[in-house]
Amino acid sequence: MAIYAYRCTSCGKEEDVIQKMSDAPLTTCPACGKETFTKQLSAAGFQLKGNGYYVTDFKNKPAQACGTSACPASSDA
Ligand SMILES: [Zn+2]
Repeated sequence: MAIYAYRCTSCGKEEDVIQKMSDAPLTTCPACGKETFTKQLSAAGFQLKGNGYYVTDFKNKPAQACGTSACPASSDA
């Protein structure tokens, strides 16, 4: 389990979400319901868990996780 900070790019809603590493990232904003809820990589929960752990997991993910608007690396860099 890890804590992910999400932020909605439409309404600015920010929320920490506890997920398993294997869980698909959320995309639906709980505040406005738009598909603009994106995971933030620089969150406190990220640092809490340890950089290496998360970075390794992220790099091992296949490209299918990216290429959508939900991918933090390819959206609003
Ligand atoms: Zn929103």
